[in-house]
Amino acid sequence: MSETFKTIAVFQYSAEALIIKGRIESEGIQVFTMDMHTIDTDPLVSNAIGGVKLRVKAEDEQKALQIVESIQKYAVGDHGEPICCPKCKGEKIVLASTIDSFKSLVFFLFGFILSLLPMYQKMKYRCEDCKKEFDIDE
Ligand SMILES: [Zn+2]
Repeated sequence: MSETFKTIAVFQYSAEALIIKGRIESEGIQVFTMDMHTIDTDPLVSNAIGGVKLRVKAEDEQKALQIVESIQKYAVGDHGEPICCPKCKGEKIVLASTIDSFKSLVFFLFGFILSLLPMYQKMKYRCEDCKKEFDIDE
């Protein structure tokens, strides 16, 4: 085992980590998670051990970082087109994935599973400019 691994992202919640992991893996990059089990067993431990770490092989680091950046920056449509705010027409749109309670975490996960099915494609977005939250209807 002479392979080197690089940590490319750290998440407080494993739900977020899993989504990003899935996106990176869909690009053909192998992703390894650290500390996932510990956090799921006791969410309070998350802060203490520094969250869920996503790791990739050193050779995949740059590509994986680009993917993480493109996901975390501003949301785009399925074909890469920018999403506009329905209120102010701004393009600084982020996925509203703020998880502040167990209940919203469950909804978040459920929403993510549904979002995998085109007919149920509904994600919440939030405009960074005017803070409006909205859904995208395909
Ligand atoms: Zn706006």
